[in-house]
Amino acid sequence: MESPERIRNVARRVAKWHDAGHRMVVVPSAMAGETNRLIALAQELMPQPDQRELDMVTATGEQVSVGLLAMALMNLGKEAISFTGWQVPVLTDAAYTRARILSITGQRILDELDKGRIVIVAGFQGVNDKGDITTLGRGGSDTSAVAIAAALKADECLIYTDVDGVYTTDPRVVSDARRLKRITFEEMLEMASLGSKVLQTRSVEFAGNFRVPTRVLSSLTDPLMPLEEEVNLGTLITFEENTEMEQSVISGIAFSRSEARIMVIGVPDKPGIAFQILGAIAAAGIEVDMIIQNQSVDGIADFTFTVPRADYARAMDVLSSTVKQAIGARDIVGDAQVSKVSAIGVGMRSHVGVAARMFETLYREGINILMISTSEIKISVIIDEKYMELAVRALHKAFELESN
Ligand code: ASP
Ligand code: MG
Repeated sequence: MESPERIRNVARRVAKWHDAGHRMVVVPSAMAGETNRLIALAQELMPQPDQRELDMVTATGEQVSVGLLAMALMNLGKEAISFTGWQVPVLTDAAYTRARILSITGQRILDELDKGRIVIVAGFQGVNDKGDITTLGRGGSDTSAVAIAAALKADECLIYTDVDGVYTTDPRVVSDARRLKRITFEEMLEMASLGSKVLQTRSVEFAGNFRVPTRVLSSLTDPLMPLEEEVNLGTLITFEENTEMEQSVISGIAFSRSEARIMVIGVPDKPGIAFQILGAIAAAGIEVDMIIQNQSVDGIADFTFTVPRADYARAMDVLSSTVKQAIGARDIVGDAQVSKVSAIGVGMRSHVGVAARMFETLYREGINILMISTSEIKISVIIDEKYMELAVRALHKAFELESN
């Protein structure tokens, strides 16, 4: 929602669903750019903003949205009522700026729905057990929406974004990327956590845990287009694997540009080393992704892992200030210009040779692989950032993902 006109369009779309007989709960996020603006404002007054106060500030973006959307609906002759997170309440833990939802009391929402009203609940925000406002992390309104859908046992959760569904890869990198009509929940979880920015990862976890049928749709289509047409334009997240013949082995190529690699070199090969290194990183609240410890030679090993690039400097600080001495590492070096590229697909379970195809493709492009990790349905590699787009394009082609 970036303008009054866009809000009016959201209202028209919601009214259309309501007119078709659906009881509607709407969970808007802030107006476009608003959360960034609020964070910048906070940083101007306190470079490392106090986290409780930051949530107090950033939660206002969604409060504005819900009120405005309620008015836009009223202006269309609909009965609507808006709530903040704490009014519902959406109860969270106390981790300001990245709180987790603990429970949602749906009664107030249900009471209003029973009166025939459209209920609008602020996304991204909740309240902790002290009664303080919390927020759920960037992109958190996705999670609010799915969690509320789960709490209310909604028939479906429709997520409207500014892309029209989930693609085989980011269309900005590969112009002939194809929209997926369906994707399994597991694949979606990998896609989200591997860097596709369509949905917040936690919202996909919620959808999985509570089996919320979730559909990703475009907010840019004509708000008055017929419902059946509209739902066909999105991507449905399913809980069964697609048995259709044309199901390909790989569903998508995900990437995360901004990774960093840290190598702790020459550590004694004995119990407790991984714990001391990663324990210190975890204590600093930094998320570690890939981890590799190589075979030790003469009782000395190297330990390599990746962190988000934004946390790289902090992670290096943590390690070089205390950990290096404590574990007796020879050196700690890093590389903040690496990216992760992943091939994802439940089809991998029943097909061999996927990894070989991926590695061959990268080899043919002359791309060196720095790290590899695999799971049942994905293969990820860390490569130099400057080859990232090349790798994504080559893999998209090698796995025949382009639109036909
Ligand atoms: N407004 C919040 C953000 O920008 C939440 C969201 O958009 O989902 O991160
Ligand atoms: Mg969002």
